[in-house]
Amino acid sequence: MTGDSISRNRDRTEHAHALALRATVEVSEYSGAEMSFSRRSFLVGAGSGLSLLVLTACTEPEPMPTPTVSPSPTFTVPRPKSMQRSNWTSDPYSRGSHSFITVGSTPQFREDLRQPIMGRIFFAGEATSSDLPGSVLGAQSSGARAASELSGAAQKGDRIAVIGAGAAGAEAARLLSLQGHDVIVIEARNRVGGRIDTRESKSWPLPIELGAWRLDKTTDAVLLSRLAELGIETNPFTGSLLQGAKATATENTVGPTAVASALAWAGEQIKDVSVTNALDDSGAAKGAPDSNGLTGADLLDQYLASLATVNGASDSKLSAWYGLDGLPQYDRLVTGGFGTLVADALKGITTSLSTAVVGIAYSDSGVSLQLGTGESLKVDRALITVPLGVLQKGSIRFDPLLPFSHRTAIASLGMGSVETVWLRYDKPFWSTDAAAWSLVGTGDDLSTWFNLQAVTGENVLVGLAGGDAARRVSKLSDDDLLASALHALEPFAGS
Ligand SMILES: Cc1cc2nc3c(=O)[nH]c(=O)nc-3n(C[C@H](O)[C@H](O)[C@H](O)COP(=O)(O)OP(=O)(O)OC[C@H]3O[C@@H](n4cnc5c(N)ncnc54)[C@H](O)[C@@H]3O)c2cc1C
Repeated sequence: MTGDSISRNRDRTEHAHALALRATVEVSEYSGAEMSFSRRSFLVGAGSGLSLLVLTACTEPEPMPTPTVSPSPTFTVPRPKSMQRSNWTSDPYSRGSHSFITVGSTPQFREDLRQPIMGRIFFAGEATSSDLPGSVLGAQSSGARAASELSGAAQKGDRIAVIGAGAAGAEAARLLSLQGHDVIVIEARNRVGGRIDTRESKSWPLPIELGAWRLDKTTDAVLLSRLAELGIETNPFTGSLLQGAKATATENTVGPTAVASALAWAGEQIKDVSVTNALDDSGAAKGAPDSNGLTGADLLDQYLASLATVNGASDSKLSAWYGLDGLPQYDRLVTGGFGTLVADALKGITTSLSTAVVGIAYSDSGVSLQLGTGESLKVDRALITVPLGVLQKGSIRFDPLLPFSHRTAIASLGMGSVETVWLRYDKPFWSTDAAAWSLVGTGDDLSTWFNLQAVTGENVLVGLAGGDAARRVSKLSDDDLLASALHALEPFAGS
C-alpha cells in the first residue's frame, strides 16, 4: 500500500476487518484485564483467516483439531510479554472518553448543562467546564465550582450526595467536607478515579494508565505541582518520529498549517461546518503540500488522527468554529500512578463503591436517589458528576425530567472516544529514542504511540486511537487488537 492510495476521508473499516481476518488465535493466556503471552499463538496469512471462517461456517460446533496453516506466522514485530487495553467506548459508566463540540453546537451548552436546579441538583464534570473541557484539570475545577455553588445554597447540617468518584466528584467532596458538610460519595464502579484508571500489576514495571495520563506543563501547572506534593512521578516526553509506508520525516508542519487555514476560512462563513468540510471547502486539504516523500493528504491524515487522540472526535464530527479551541499541548506523562490524586482527595470521606444511581427524584424540599441495589437514599442536595455519555444514554431517570435547556445540552454536545493499548516487552525491537511515534499513510487505527523506554527506561509501548478509529478498536477482540497493534508497529521495527 502506498501513501498516495490513502486519502483523508477513507473509511478504514476494510483495513480493520482485513486485520481481524489475518489474525486467528490458536493459544492465548488471558486472565482478567491483563493478557500475557508466553507462547506463539497467531496463525497469520491472508488465506488462513478466510479458510478458518469457511470451516466455521461448514462444520458442526464440536471440538476440532487446530488447523495447521502454511506458511507459518510472520510478524516483523515480536509479540509482547503482556498487554492491557481500555474500552471506554462501551463502558457503561463513561460511554466514551470525553465531551466535544459537535457541528452546530456551541460552548454555551456546557454552561446550560451546569445550571443548578431548584438549589437541589448541581452538576460538575469535564463536560461542564468551559475553559478546560475533556481534561482532568477541567474536571477538578468544575468540582470546585460546583462545591462553591452548592455551599452557597446549603443549610447547616445538610446531607449532600456526590454522584461519581472521578476527578470532579472527588474535588467537590473534598471541599464540601472541609466546609463541614455531611458528604457521601456514591460511585458505580468498584474503584474511584473514573476516567483516571491506574492499574498496578506485579508483572509490569510501572503503573498502567488506561485513561488520562498526559499533561500540559503550562496549562496543568497547578495539577503538576499537586502531583509533585503527593510524590507522583511525571516525566517530560521529548522527540517525535513520524514513520509510514513510504518515508520518514521528523516533523509534520503540513497538517497543522492546513487545519489552521481551514479554521480561518470557517470563521468567515455564515454557519458552522465540520472540520472535514472546512478542509475540503476551503481548499486547504487539496493544497496541503507533499513533504519528505510523504503526500500532503497523508500528513494531514496523521495530524487529524493525533488530534482525535486528544479530543476523542473525528474531524467529520468536530465543529470548525469551536471544536479545536484550547487544545492542550501535552508534554508530560504521569508515570507514578495518577489514581493517587483522586484517592487522596477522598481520604476520610464516606464513599459507597459498586453503587450505581439509576434514578433521581427531586423537588424544592429534597432529593431521593434510586440505587441499582434497589435501595433509595434521601439527601438534601445532590451533585451529579457522571460523564456526558451516561446522561446521553439515559442511564439515570430524572423525575421530573431535567429542564429543557439541560436536555438540549446533553443531546447536542458530542461524546468522543479514545482507546489505549499497553504492550510490555522484555527487550526493545526498536532502536529510536523518540518518545512519541506517529504513523503516516498506513491506515492503521492505532496511529499514535508512546515509547516509555525513552521516558522511563522501561520497555513499554502505549498505542492510542481516537474518534472513529477508537470506536473500531473498541470492537476488536483482544487477539485482533494485538494483531492490529503489531501491524501498526511494523514501520518502527528496527528504526
Ligand atoms: C482514554 C482517555 C485518555 C484521556 N487522556 C487525558 C489526558 O491525557 N489528560 C487529561 O487531562 N485528560 C484526559 N482524559 C480526560 C479525563 O480523563 C477526564 O476529563 C476526567 O478524568 C473526567 O473526570 P470527571 O470527574 O468529569 O468524570 P469521571 O472521571 O468519568 O467520573 C465520573 C464518575 O461517575 C461514575 N458514574 C457513572 N455513572 C454512574 C452512576 N449511574 N452512578 C454512580 N456513579 C456513576 C463513574 O464510574 C466515574 O467514576 C482522558 C480520558 C480518556 C478516557
